[in-house]
Amino acid sequence: MKIPFVSFKPMEKELNTELRAAFDRVLERSWYIDGVEDKNFEEAFAEFCGAKYCVGCGNGLDALMLTLKALGIKEGDEVIVPSNTYIATALAVTYVGATPILVEPDINTFNINPALIEEKITERTKAIMPVHLYGQACDMDPILAIAKKYNLYVIEDCAQAHGATYKGKIIGNFGDAAGFSFYPGKNLGALGDAGATVTNNKELADKLRALGNYGSDYKYHHIYKGTNSRLDELQAAFLSAKVPFMDKMNNDRRRIANRYLTEINNSDVILPYTMPECEHVWHVFAIRSNRRDELAKYLEDLGIGVNKHYPIAIHLQECYKDLGIKEGELPIAEEISATQLSLPLYYGMTDEEIDYVISSINAFK
Ligand SMILES: *Cc1c(COP(=O)(O)O)cnc(C)c1O
Repeated sequence: MKIPFVSFKPMEKELNTELRAAFDRVLERSWYIDGVEDKNFEEAFAEFCGAKYCVGCGNGLDALMLTLKALGIKEGDEVIVPSNTYIATALAVTYVGATPILVEPDINTFNINPALIEEKITERTKAIMPVHLYGQACDMDPILAIAKKYNLYVIEDCAQAHGATYKGKIIGNFGDAAGFSFYPGKNLGALGDAGATVTNNKELADKLRALGNYGSDYKYHHIYKGTNSRLDELQAAFLSAKVPFMDKMNNDRRRIANRYLTEINNSDVILPYTMPECEHVWHVFAIRSNRRDELAKYLEDLGIGVNKHYPIAIHLQECYKDLGIKEGELPIAEEISATQLSLPLYYGMTDEEIDYVISSINAFK
């Protein structure tokens, strides 16, 4: 049996009519940038997140970068980010000229450890960017308490956790703003690149919209040295087709994750931990194993697609040598990069496919 790490086919089959209708609407209108589809999607997604404003942009990295820029974060500033995340979180900080300060995660949740944040705060620290990694919300209460104490902005990186909750409240609403990615593989994915920022702050939303549109507040009038990062009409229309299915899609991911959690049984495998305060949306089903590379090869040889999120920790990446963090200094991020393995998990995975993944892992000796 061949099982890809991710397949969009079952979802595209189910939403075929809606996606084609979305394309037809846009083609019929012949209007491709800054139109009614963008507006409609932003309204629908803000409502989904229980937030007042949503501003679309080109991708998730831009959402984070433009938010930092809009909040005035710049050269000389420091921003706290987790040491175990996709590199985009750190790059957003770098692109506005500030320095990412890496804080170790909790080995069980994979998310930033709030108990380790305070010791990294200096007079240069301006913001904390918690990342709700793999689909599980961070432990937000202590993070928000620290932010309040030191008067720091909180910008959530929600790229992997559309719809996840913490203490019953949906992510995207905990801080000053939240960046989302709609990269095709994310829980809400476009048919190309797309992103958005969600906020309850109107001034910030207006500034973000201008920054992503050449710094223009109205046509040919420029108040900021902005850039071009807009959510185009086609992607907005495709995303709108998927928003009503978000709960169904996330519930299906939970169905698969629950089977893995209850049926995978192998002493070489550590299953992921979910905090009781959190409702996980399983962007990634992350197991750990001291025999990770052996297990990955074994599964691949059996036709099962797996992935490593992420095989090289940020501080050990070539491009971040200038942070001056040596191997061994962030042992938890390094431990995760050496032991983490992501199992196949996507909307519409069949029971037979799930059975095959489980029995294969259980037979690994
Ligand atoms: C995907 C991702 C991003 C960036 O999103 P893009 O749309 O690919 O630019 C940022 N942060 C995290 C944690 C991500 O997983």
